[in-house]
Amino acid sequence: MATAQQVTVYKNFIAGEWRESSGGLFDVTSPANGELLYRAQRSTVDDARAAIAAAREAFETTEWRDDPNVRTAALSKFSAAVHERHQDLATQLTRESGKPFPISRGEALRLAETTSYFAGLTRWVFGRSQIPQPNSLSIIIREPIGVVAIIVPWNAPLALLARAIAPALAAGNAVVVKPASYTAGSTVELGKIIESIPEFPKGIVNIVTGPGDPVGAELARHDDVDMVAFTGDTATGREIMRLAAGNLKKVSLELGGKSPTIVFADANMDRAIRGALNAASFYNAGQICIAGTRVLVEASIHDAFVERIKEMVPKLKVGPGWEKGVEVGPVISESQLKKITGYIEQGKKEARLLVGGQRLTDGELAKGNFLAPAVFDGVAPDARISQEEIFGPVVGITTFKDLDDAIRIANNTKYGLVAAAWTRDINKAMKIATRVRAGSIWINTFGKMFQSTEMGGYKQSGLGRQYGLEGLFEYTELKHVNIQIEK
Ligand code: NDP
Repeated sequence: MATAQQVTVYKNFIAGEWRESSGGLFDVTSPANGELLYRAQRSTVDDARAAIAAAREAFETTEWRDDPNVRTAALSKFSAAVHERHQDLATQLTRESGKPFPISRGEALRLAETTSYFAGLTRWVFGRSQIPQPNSLSIIIREPIGVVAIIVPWNAPLALLARAIAPALAAGNAVVVKPASYTAGSTVELGKIIESIPEFPKGIVNIVTGPGDPVGAELARHDDVDMVAFTGDTATGREIMRLAAGNLKKVSLELGGKSPTIVFADANMDRAIRGALNAASFYNAGQICIAGTRVLVEASIHDAFVERIKEMVPKLKVGPGWEKGVEVGPVISESQLKKITGYIEQGKKEARLLVGGQRLTDGELAKGNFLAPAVFDGVAPDARISQEEIFGPVVGITTFKDLDDAIRIANNTKYGLVAAAWTRDINKAMKIATRVRAGSIWINTFGKMFQSTEMGGYKQSGLGRQYGLEGLFEYTELKHVNIQIEK
């Protein structure tokens, strides 16, 4: 265990400088063994305001907003540096979050890939022109919005930061980033990379750590912030929207989910079972917004499906993500663990627990927040465990009788983030694709996200789109300029 002297202390990155907060520090500990990992600034409202002022100053006084060449150079260098440092970043991420190292490595590489993709889109910030009447020329200019606050959760801090910060910067905005407290360090590490790249003007990227309220809340509320891009819980998203209403700032929200994996009797069963397990996102202890936590199985194959799940899930290796072969990491915190075990107890009243659900305390596991992945069977569509986002390694199986029944159950939640269906029947696949209300639909696959393909939530899973051209345009305003031509 690190001694107090050895522990890294992260500072805020404001206006290109490393600054301490008057609010003191907070500790970040490993969810896998409780070890103190580092300390970060417990920032105050004043720190948030200083970061906003630095971003405003950089946006208004530098050429960043007008020079796509500089933005491409800066983002390309950032991407290359992240790529070079991806092993270190992944190590840090696994220490903070406990997730398996290969998953962290994939996430660090995704940050590099996303910034590289948007580095190539800086010249796509363009509008249109038209002649709306004789001797009148209209130009529709696309411009950056200004100062964008980016608030990120802990479950995939680098990947989720990437899809907001990369398009926001590519479009010419200045940003203030508020990382999740559990994983603040991996984001502050990125400040060191930004600092080393001269093409980033001081103040274009600012990072402020500290509690959601007041730091994130101040960013969402402040009149000099033009947009807030938030990823996190639906309830927090609602609060962000309320705070943002003060100056009617633009809001982009990527929120929770309760996504269905629909398995039809005609599916390739091996692939569907592997797909359902992949969708369950046990690798991140189920703490993934798109996790397929509702498995809808056609009645005629239910028994065979359940037998295979019962056999496979208990074999998953649970442990700290830095150990080789670990497939399921810890839950992020003791309080999250309590919340999840509460849902497991609730599930026992509503359905039949097939496997797992118990806290694991053998040997070293006792020091961390480890849960055996739980699968329930016979879950009614209206059961609480079928309606509420648990954000843990808990999945429920519900049977359906036909296509219409499957669609009805799939749509029967307040969420609409993603859905996956396994079938060899093209007509069933097309009906799922067109009638299930979710931002991404996968047929015979799960989780395919590309830099160039938009994603986002329907219903209470969010507002706005990430990735692709629409993901870039989220961070822009349109301006109409009309010129009268003299006859
Ligand atoms: P939270 O909403 O609790 O926190 C997200 C971020 O918001 C953190 O940085 C947090 O800071 C901050 N925050 C908390 N309260 C406030 C507030 N009042 N004002 C401003 N900021 C605040 O979510 P979790 O971190 O628990 O993440 C899990 C949730 O995120 C799940 O619901 C999940 O589905 C969702 N999610 C959605 C994704 C999507 O793309 N749709 C992707 C990944 C996750 P602090 O850490 O200091 O509390």
